[in-house]
Amino acid sequence: MSHSAQPTASLYIDGAFVEGAGAELAVHYPYTGEVIANLREASAEQVAQATAAAQAAQPAWAALRPVERGRVLIAAARIIRERGEELARLETLDTGKPIQETRVADWPSGADALEYFGGLAPTVTGQSIPLGGDFVYTIREALGVCAGIGTWNYPSQIACWKAAPALAMGNAMVFKPSEETPLGALQLAAILAEAGLPAGIFNVVQGRGAVGAALVTDPRVAKVSLTGSVGTGKRVYAAAAADMRHVTMELGGKSPLIVFDDASLEDAVGAAILANFYSSGQICSNGTRVFVQNGILPQFLDRLAERAARVRIGDPLDEATQHGPIVSPAQAARIREAIAKGQAEGARLICGGPGEGAFVPPTVFADVADGMWIAREEIFGPVMSVLGFATEAEAIARANATPYGLAAGVFTRDLARGHRVAGALQAGTAWINAYNLTPVEAPFGGVKLSGIGRENSAAAIEHYSQLKTVYVGMSPVEAPY
Ligand code: NDP
Repeated sequence: MSHSAQPTASLYIDGAFVEGAGAELAVHYPYTGEVIANLREASAEQVAQATAAAQAAQPAWAALRPVERGRVLIAAARIIRERGEELARLETLDTGKPIQETRVADWPSGADALEYFGGLAPTVTGQSIPLGGDFVYTIREALGVCAGIGTWNYPSQIACWKAAPALAMGNAMVFKPSEETPLGALQLAAILAEAGLPAGIFNVVQGRGAVGAALVTDPRVAKVSLTGSVGTGKRVYAAAAADMRHVTMELGGKSPLIVFDDASLEDAVGAAILANFYSSGQICSNGTRVFVQNGILPQFLDRLAERAARVRIGDPLDEATQHGPIVSPAQAARIREAIAKGQAEGARLICGGPGEGAFVPPTVFADVADGMWIAREEIFGPVMSVLGFATEAEAIARANATPYGLAAGVFTRDLARGHRVAGALQAGTAWINAYNLTPVEAPFGGVKLSGIGRENSAAAIEHYSQLKTVYVGMSPVEAPY
């Protein structure tokens, strides 16, 4: 069966699909490896055309009433929900993720963001600051042209999470998807246009890292929002800093999940599964270091192995499939290298292993020591490390002994301990008796090397706007001479 997913054209600039003038970009369906679309990268001139179109269109968009901007975003969310099945299928072809995931997680959470920020836009106001006669008022202004750069694990969600707050605040955006998953952002551009977005406000350019680098340093770009690895984040942050651009960096992690011996074992095992194997483990906030208190460690491992063995691996378009392929052969090879390192370092394989072809099964290592490579480095695949611990203080200290700080989790029935541990963990998000839930209502982002800035929630508004102070003099000006 052929799975063609050829878009109208590779790029979307100034309200129109246009073909890229740069290098060829073949899009593969990760399950079969077949080419499902042939795209072309944007040339340097086309990147400049996109930012110029965004710059030209942005002032009129920012001058609309916020409720009018919000109406467009909310209309786009409705279109996404109406086309849910078709969009989920395309997301599965682009990423290889099971259709049972893409139906509920990817575009639906993108639609949530468009609804949330569409509704929030008219509520954003400034302050009035009395000075006894004179007074000050503040205006929250758009930044101008924002660059969005995404990775491949949640391509359409990432495009929506960046576009929704940016557009709500009156900015224009030029978005570059990952070269691995370029299709969803083009759908978003078409949907936003259908919802009434003016030409030039949301543009899509395709390409590898060099296109992203050209976008980041374009003189018209005022802000860069990247979802990607820590290494790329450092490069992009430095490039953006050269001209004092604003940044949001959503980067990687090696997050801890701490399970105390009073926790519900079934819930904790379920959370560890969701925290490591959903989307074949390709999730930045995954709790890949699972610290389990020594008293329940054997039961935890037994139950984990039993439940992991039941996973249905296979065709991602089959509704019954729970675990799909890895996004690309290169990424699968990196994950297999990590598994080999774990074995070479003496960690004990409880289940899974390197797998075959595009598939890496849910893999669990026990007897992992903190210093092992697999416990220190982000693998970005379905590989869990389980580590035993004795005391709360020890678990917290070991959980925090990482340069990353995206997320963390704690499972316990002790209310005070749950809050105490959540408070002590160095992470942008800490879950108590839950894991990997990232509703649009809650801020999301990292501390330490995992990033800067927050997506989602009202907090995101601050990252897509700037404050202007207007001082109003009400008295005669008294100059000294
Ligand atoms: P990369 O950092 O390699 O790429 C991210 C994006 O940046 C891609 O679109 C890439 O283009 C682009 N890019 C690469 N180099 C540059 C550059 N010099 N200037 C501008 N753009 C550039 O990450 P991966 O795609 O490999 O994604 C995996 C990483 O993303 C993991 O570390 C993961 O933890 C992190 N991640 C973080 C999330 C979060 O919210 N915190 C969510 C999801 C993933 P291209 O790839 O097309 O060459």
